[in-house]
Amino acid sequence: MRKFLFVTTLLALAILAMLSAQGGQRQVSLVIANGTVVTMDGSGRVIANGAVAVDGTDIVAVDTADAIARQFRGRDTIDAAGRVVLPGLINTHTHAPMVLFRGLADDLALMDWLNKYIFPAEAKTVSPEFVRAGTRLAALEMIESGTTTFTDMYYFEEEIAKETRTAGLRGVLGQTVIQFPVADARTPADALARAEKFITEFKGDPLITPAVAPHAMYTLDGPTLKAARELSKRLGVPTLIHVAETRDEVKTAQERFKSSPTAYLDSLGFLGPGVLVAHGVWVSDEDIAILKMRGVGVSHNPESNMKLASGAAPVTAYLRAGVPLGLGTDGAASNNDLDMFEAMRMASMLNKLVTSDPRAVPAKTALEMATIGGARALGMDRQIGSLEGGKRADIIIVGMSSARQTPMYDPISHLVYVTRGDDVQTTIVNGRILMRDRKVLTLDEPAIIREAQGWAEKVRAAVK
Ligand SMILES: [Zn+2]
Repeated sequence: MRKFLFVTTLLALAILAMLSAQGGQRQVSLVIANGTVVTMDGSGRVIANGAVAVDGTDIVAVDTADAIARQFRGRDTIDAAGRVVLPGLINTHTHAPMVLFRGLADDLALMDWLNKYIFPAEAKTVSPEFVRAGTRLAALEMIESGTTTFTDMYYFEEEIAKETRTAGLRGVLGQTVIQFPVADARTPADALARAEKFITEFKGDPLITPAVAPHAMYTLDGPTLKAARELSKRLGVPTLIHVAETRDEVKTAQERFKSSPTAYLDSLGFLGPGVLVAHGVWVSDEDIAILKMRGVGVSHNPESNMKLASGAAPVTAYLRAGVPLGLGTDGAASNNDLDMFEAMRMASMLNKLVTSDPRAVPAKTALEMATIGGARALGMDRQIGSLEGGKRADIIIVGMSSARQTPMYDPISHLVYVTRGDDVQTTIVNGRILMRDRKVLTLDEPAIIREAQGWAEKVRAAVK
């Protein structure tokens, strides 16, 4: 017996020696090499000549290009010399199909904008086909501008999910629940039933996280808000809701409940882990304390808040309180694009302006909000938001050699203050290359743009 053990040990050692003599490089599906790697990991590591090894859906290692070359051989390789490699951007609040209303009506008071344009256009055009065409266009724009995960609230969310999966993007997709009759539900009960069916169909999908999206406290009664929250708790999925977007909402909450929108939701038992609040503009210190205590994430939407003159969210107060804070574009009808680089720049500049403090929301903080902060707000920071071994391979490669980006002293400064979505060259989600050197591989760009122009005719007719 002892002799047998001795022989097998020798044999094992011999095999190991042979393997290491062959170089010991592990073959992986993809190596991205020679770029400036901005990891957004816990120590904020930036690697000047770095590389990322990806195998299948996951990042296996992030290190210097030399160290990665010693350990890994990619079946596919991307040379990122002169470029910045960073985690894909996370849009924590949008309404993807609304790209088809982009530029339909601008420069109006919120209620005129909604009642004269958006609601009539939605009433006459929103259908499964509309939502699919809009999602394809939005997905194209997001892939082209470096967004790898988006959080959505709209109608016919199952159609959005199918298009998102085809495009290859990651989505946290919330089926809207609203009190009045809408295109995909006549009553809130219909909407809840639709949400349950959608969640059951997509739960466990590698790219799609289905969610429930009760629209807001002012468009839903208490029992429906509670039912929506119960449904998402029972099925173990996120709850997405607009909260404290405008002063009017705060006034409504005061008149109806003698309470702030946040305190009202808390009184219903609505707030808790898994809830993501969009906007959170008009909140008091007490409201922020409630959100922190309940483990709620917040999505800051500076461009939409500026364009609709809603106000400026107290970003520095959220950060000081330790509330997980992500960044969103909101729908393209109030932005008017889905470019997360612009959202970062605006988040930084708006908050400097309103606090009269140029140190507020520095570039690194804005970049955190668009990456790991967004992941935390969504409760997905174990999977996405930074470049670290074991996380999903959601990665973008950004060109840094245009006149506008020259010279470059600090990659993080450039990512926030001068880079645009168009500078993104390659977009990877779940290890799959969706765009390579500006060529989108998963979607037919000319066909999608043609189709969207066709829908614009119908939208124009609907608001005449
Ligand atoms: Zn919204």
